Order: sequence, then structure tokens, then C-alpha cells
Amino acid sequence: MRHESTTTPIISVRGMSKLFGDFVALDRLNFDVRKGEKIVILGPSGSGKSTLIRTLNRIEPHDSGTLTINGKLINDKTNPIQLRCMVGMVFQNYNLFPHLSVLENCILAPMRVRHMTRIEATDLARRYLDQVGIPDQADKYPIQLSGGQQQRVAIARALCMQPEVMLFDEPTAALDPEAIVGVVSIIDELAEQGITTVCVTHEMAFSRRIADHIIFMDQGKILEITSPGTFFTSPQTDRAQNFLNQML
Ligand code: ADP
Ligand code: MG
Repeated sequence: MRHESTTTPIISVRGMSKLFGDFVALDRLNFDVRKGEKIVILGPSGSGKSTLIRTLNRIEPHDSGTLTINGKLINDKTNPIQLRCMVGMVFQNYNLFPHLSVLENCILAPMRVRHMTRIEATDLARRYLDQVGIPDQADKYPIQLSGGQQQRVAIARALCMQPEVMLFDEPTAALDPEAIVGVVSIIDELAEQGITTVCVTHEMAFSRRIADHIIFMDQGKILEITSPGTFFTSPQTDRAQNFLNQML
């Protein structure tokens, strides 16, 4: 018999919609993510992938339906700080604070939000900077780093909040091929460590390797939720087939 904690979803989305004016960006989405699962969101440009991932930590509030994270209903009463402690996010363009060093980027939120001491936060940051392969860059400023290194800082910074869930929105899209390999292998490693991961990416080999489930979106709707094996060999819809034909 499975223990309840392994079957209760960490993220549960029911009939969730998001509008921009009259435009339906997310149309009544339904899915669950269980603790430790890796979800990859695929779909053409403009299909709503970023909007979906941004609703999961309420950068974009949803308009209707429900979003539950860790058993808590997420809505306008949710404390955004508590939510961001649970759900970390890594963006395509890193979003580092340019006026802060790498180390300061990493320790700011843990000190302010998690009320760690500087020493505790620094220890943690050094551990994660080591894990993402840039232990020697701690005192540099973002502008002094390559894109790949900046994205590693962004990942380390998100990990310093020790979130239950990590969201990635095309984390390798702005990187050159060599840097992509490095960042992908870091996310691979996180996946192996059991962090629940929701990732938008166009890296197909990576998706196939890490995903427990692929969510395929088009025009604000989820058209398929399947295993990568099924998705890449026999997608259920013509739109997914067309998408794959263009990608592969
Ligand atoms: P994707 O990440 O799949 O490329 P997005 O989620 O960024 O797609 O966008 C989905 C749709 O919502 C697009 O048509 C986009 O133009 C629109 N959209 C996204 N953000 C906004 C916004 N802040 N205001 C108005 N329209 C938006
Ligand atoms: Mg996007």
C-alpha cells in the first residue's frame, strides 16, 4: 500500500484559467504533480507555457479555478513570501540583481525571508554554488560572468530558499550550446536528488531523459499529459505531431 504522502499531489490544478483582458491565456487546466515528480511543459510559442508556470508561484494570479500547493489553496489571501519559500523559479534571463555580488544574490532572500543569519545563509550559498560548479565566482558581479555561469547563479540562488518545487522557464534558451550542456546536467542532478521540478524547455533529449510526464499545450489548453515515451513516439493529437515534426 502506498503511503498517503506519496499520493497526495504537491501541486493540484483544477479548472484553472487566466485571462489577459478578453484573451484566454490559460483555458481550464487540470493536472496534478506529485512530490519528486519531473514535469516538462512543451508547446509552440505563445501556447501559454510561461503563463502557466508563472501562475504556479503567483507572479501571474489566475482568474478562475483552483490552484493548491502543498495542500494550501493559493489565492489572493496567500502570503506571497510563504509561497515563494515553497516554490522557487529560474527564468530564461537569469534575473540576477546586477548591483549585488554572486554571494549577495544568493543570501539576500534567505536572510530577509527565511531569517537566516549571514553566516548560515553564506554557508548554504557556498554549498549550492559548489553544487552548480562555480564555487570560485562568489565575489564576482553578474556582469563579470558568462550566460551559463549567470544561470548557475540563478539556480543556486533559487536553491538557497530550499523550495519544495523548482520552476524553470526555458532555463537554457539564452545560452550557447556548450553552456546548455552544463546547465542541463545541473538540472539533471537536481532531478535525481528528488526535487519536484516543473520545466518549460525546448531541449528534447533532456525532456525525454528527466520527465515523468510531458504536458503539451497549445492555445492556452493542455492537449496531452503523457509519458515521454508515448509523447515522443506516438503523440495523441495532430498538433503535438506537428510540433514534434518541427522540433526533431
Ligand atoms: P509561451 O511561454 O508558451 O510562449 P506565454 O505564456 O508567454 O506563451 O503567452 C501566452 C499568450 O499570452 C501569448 O499570446 C502572449 O502574447 C499572451 N500574454 C502573455 N503575457 C501577457 C501579458 N502580460 N499581457 C497580455 N498578453 C500576454
Ligand atoms: Mg514562454
